[in-house]
Amino acid sequence: MADDVLRLEQIRKSYAIGTPAETEVLHGIDLSLKRGEFCALIGPSGSGKSTLLNIVGLLDRPSGGKLFLNGEDTTTLDEAALTRLRGRSIGFVFQYHHLISAFTAVENVMMPMLLEQGRPNAAMRDDALRLLDKVGLAQWKDHLATNMSGGQQQRVAIARALALQPSLVLADEPTGNLDTKSADSVFELLRQVGATSGTTFLFVTHNMNLAKRCDRIVELVDGRIVSDR
Ligand code: ADP
Ligand code: MG
Repeated sequence: MADDVLRLEQIRKSYAIGTPAETEVLHGIDLSLKRGEFCALIGPSGSGKSTLLNIVGLLDRPSGGKLFLNGEDTTTLDEAALTRLRGRSIGFVFQYHHLISAFTAVENVMMPMLLEQGRPNAAMRDDALRLLDKVGLAQWKDHLATNMSGGQQQRVAIARALALQPSLVLADEPTGNLDTKSADSVFELLRQVGATSGTTFLFVTHNMNLAKRCDRIVELVDGRIVSDR
């Protein structure tokens, strides 16, 4: 479909290929996500969720199958092209926010912009401030990441993930490390960003209460999709 941001066709992944320990952990995954769709990915520990997210994030290559991002077949791209495409199209939010603790909130949000292209500093700073405002942290712009709470740091990480206006945001248990109240408000923020920006989300979670509030729940068990509802 033309409006699919992501399309996976028969994605397979084996680890330790060519050794006695070789094991296939994804056994032919078919999945399409539309523009603006907010999809939860659930499943028991070890079912392959992170493996799938790494492949979708172009951080790891599948052993078989095809992956289309915004209609482009990524299977044949070399490393440099994958890196460019990843930077342009995909935002990441991890369980541990991976902020640079000695940088301020606004500097952390600017990081992907600084790595990507040589725009004037003031323009990048303006964009970063707008994003911080969007995640409710405008007044915290000059605070060091290390001095912020877990929930606030995760909000900064969300603003950073949006820095280059990705079409797809991948979130691997982004609320797993937070207390219930912070988890809820970070989730609401992601939902709101999805609804207002047309960004597609693939959101890994163990929390069924949050999963139920997504547009769609895809369940992975032993490297296979067992339900999609
Ligand atoms: P989940 O995120 O659902 O907990 P993972 O994708 O992390 O699952 O893991 C799926 C399976 O792949 C597990 O059996 C895990 O042990 C195995 N696995 C993950 N990463 C590697 C790796 N780098 N090398 C070998 N096996 C791995
Ligand atoms: Mg995992």
